[in-house]
Amino acid sequence: VTLVVAALLLAGCADSVPRHTDRAASPPVPCLSQADDGLFATCLRTELDDVWGREFHTTGRNYASPQLTVGEDTGSGTGRVQELTRDRAYYSPRTGIHVPTRYLDDVRAAHGSRAHIVLSFTLSHETGHQVQHLLHPRIDAPGVDVETQADCYAGVWARQEANARELDAGQFRTGAEAELRRLSADPEEVRSHGGVDQRIAALDKGLRTGDPAACDVGGLSWR
Ligand SMILES: [Zn+2]
Repeated sequence: VTLVVAALLLAGCADSVPRHTDRAASPPVPCLSQADDGLFATCLRTELDDVWGREFHTTGRNYASPQLTVGEDTGSGTGRVQELTRDRAYYSPRTGIHVPTRYLDDVRAAHGSRAHIVLSFTLSHETGHQVQHLLHPRIDAPGVDVETQADCYAGVWARQEANARELDAGQFRTGAEAELRRLSADPEEVRSHGGVDQRIAALDKGLRTGDPAACDVGGLSWR
């Protein structure tokens, strides 16, 4: 197991070495270069599927991409659930990832030109919940463990993207931290998702290692 991980890490390092100078000169942010929100989301989704598809494959499993919907919450949940979630992106095993319009507006208002890098973090966190669901469909884990592990998985994805020169890791971390600080101004968010320092530490663990196994917490294990 260790050897496989080491080989993957080395492969990642090799990939991060620019092979052509023209490639090195271009900004490593293909999804961010999409001005249109729809194209950006499609691009990002492909990148998320590629990384997790590969990670699942190396451990003999199949990854299934979650549904992604954007827009008003026409929702299936109760009124109370909608009330709690309408200004946050969220994941449900049945309906996948939903990004409410109001959340997009909030992100744009708070982060301006950094909105897309912030959304890269948001969608990679929500995709982390899909990973958890596929690995442990019936586990009952503490909410904060589930959320901080999703932050760690977001970091894992970003590290692999950075190694493939598809993302700037520093830019990603700055955007993620800014969004975590914004969300953590809400005490309810802190109660359900963990404190901001705890979440940034989890993100950094994934970002540093690029290894999903480094995100293990309690019964929420990669293998
Ligand atoms: Zn979450």
